[in-house]
Amino acid sequence: MPPPPVLPPPPPYEPPVWPIPSLRLRVDDLAHPGAQIFFQHVNPYNALTSAVLTVFDWLYTLETVPHEVETIVLVLRSMPGVAHTFGSDNYKEIHFSLDWIKQCEARAPHEINGVLVHEMVHCFQYNGKGKAPGGLIEGIADWIRLHAELAPPHWTEGKGTKWDAGYEATGFFLDFIEQTHERGFVRSLNLEMRNNKYKEEMFKKISGRGLSEWWTLYQAHLGKKIPNNDPEKTPGGGDDKKENINAVGDPDKKTAKTNAIIRNLWQKMT
Ligand SMILES: [Zn+2]
Repeated sequence: MPPPPVLPPPPPYEPPVWPIPSLRLRVDDLAHPGAQIFFQHVNPYNALTSAVLTVFDWLYTLETVPHEVETIVLVLRSMPGVAHTFGSDNYKEIHFSLDWIKQCEARAPHEINGVLVHEMVHCFQYNGKGKAPGGLIEGIADWIRLHAELAPPHWTEGKGTKWDAGYEATGFFLDFIEQTHERGFVRSLNLEMRNNKYKEEMFKKISGRGLSEWWTLYQAHLGKKIPNNDPEKTPGGGDDKKENINAVGDPDKKTAKTNAIIRNLWQKMT
């Protein structure tokens, strides 16, 4: 009889890793005081990697995380506004204003990391084939900034008069659905918008309640008189030039412990 075949040894176990893109930095003016402040307070690689992992934590699992984003370039330059992000499916540029960083010098680490998380959401989130309201896109970005403990202290619930007013107004509304329905609503909504055109009915499909019903419940939660508002006729509020204005914050409170808690929470839910 021939000897039994010798099986090859099993491959060594390798823990799963998140697909972190190639990260690049471009500084258009190293002499700008905003650049000096940035490098005084922030390690660019650590800050960008942390922002990527924060987005993955809140929107994806290892099974669902997108792999198409290959390169993210952070561009620090003098410009009006705060920050904006653009690019293709596999290449993204985040432009961040050095003038804004200078203006926020007293709260620089918290504000810089908060803006980076917000913009990083735009690098990875889905938009319902381009049909999602701009206010929803911005609201998801600020909802994640909120949960990364990078929200400026001036953020409060109930500022918006419509569900897709955008930014923290929509972020708090989405969080109300999360708290009332179940953890994972925003994640499910984002994934639903991956291959489907955005439709208001997505809210009901995921949560069992329609958008109008959620808005009514939210207004009741806030103790407000329900405004005469038709969600379908309210345009999105996206305007990155306005974002993060008056942001205020303490030095970096986003500790490793907090990150561990967030990851554990999501591992339980997935
Ligand atoms: Zn934005």
